[in-house]
Amino acid sequence: MSNILVVGSVALDSVKTPFGERKEVLGGSATFFSVAASHFAPVALVAVVGEDFPKKHIELLKNKKIDLAGLEVAKGETFRWSGEYSFDFNNRTTIFTHLNVFADFKPKVPQSYQNKDILFLANIDPQLQLDVLRQVNKPKLIACDTMNLWIEVKPKILKDLLKHVDIFFLNEPEARQLTGKSNLVKAAEDILKMGPSRVIIKKGEHGALMFSRNSVFCVPAFLLETVVDPTGAGDTFAGGMIGYLAKCGKVNETNLRRAIVYGSVMATFAVEAFSLGKLAKVTKADINARLTQFERFTCF
Ligand code: AMP
Repeated sequence: MSNILVVGSVALDSVKTPFGERKEVLGGSATFFSVAASHFAPVALVAVVGEDFPKKHIELLKNKKIDLAGLEVAKGETFRWSGEYSFDFNNRTTIFTHLNVFADFKPKVPQSYQNKDILFLANIDPQLQLDVLRQVNKPKLIACDTMNLWIEVKPKILKDLLKHVDIFFLNEPEARQLTGKSNLVKAAEDILKMGPSRVIIKKGEHGALMFSRNSVFCVPAFLLETVVDPTGAGDTFAGGMIGYLAKCGKVNETNLRRAIVYGSVMATFAVEAFSLGKLAKVTKADINARLTQFERFTCF
């Protein structure tokens, strides 16, 4: 079993979907990732919150046995993000991004975190992702996620970072935005030339694609009857995938393919409720039941 270090956002989200609205609920890329990954392997977190961050959220993360030695509580307000989804969930509009304590954050990786096996750079300013990368002893695996905002405002830093990354996660529109290629095969080829040996393109309700220089793997999304709020689906997908890889201890084609299925299964729990309403309550039995169902959906 390997262990995981994650840096990313811990946030208070305000979200509007066709099925309701929630204000100032627990969110953040590192939050969704850590809770998903904690089902499979030990997770240590580097992030910052403000003094206003509710204690109950810290308790939730502690209950999941996530190591919070690297969670700084800084003077000021917690990072806040707000988004709104269209009726079919395919389009999301960011209403606001208030970096707050993240604006002056200088990540300090605790001594006890410096030799982790896997580093996951969850979606956050690529400069902060690089700052963390520079403070650790070479992990066995470095994976990274990003979003449209950073591709738009910090493309050069993101590309510098990608030279060090093994597995890169991004969604379909982001792959097109980063490469200027509309065809996803061509976009993936371009991204592989930027450094990563694997690129995972997330296609929301249409599943995910994994490209390497000599292989492609496609996985559909799990067919769900209830989708309430897709926020965090991508981070949870990455948490399930990287968590499972950590549990396997070895990164090879077979484990990577199985890991993508675990990621897809974990993402289903993120979208069934607002915030971590469902994800935080998931049991091993829930995960296994959904895996069995996933096999039934895809076996022919
Ligand atoms: P996802 O739906 O997987 O793309 O992730 C949604 C989560 O990302 C939300 O909980 C937000 O708090 C967080 N988020 C949104 N924008 C940013 C940003 N610019 N930097 C870091 N995290 C963000």
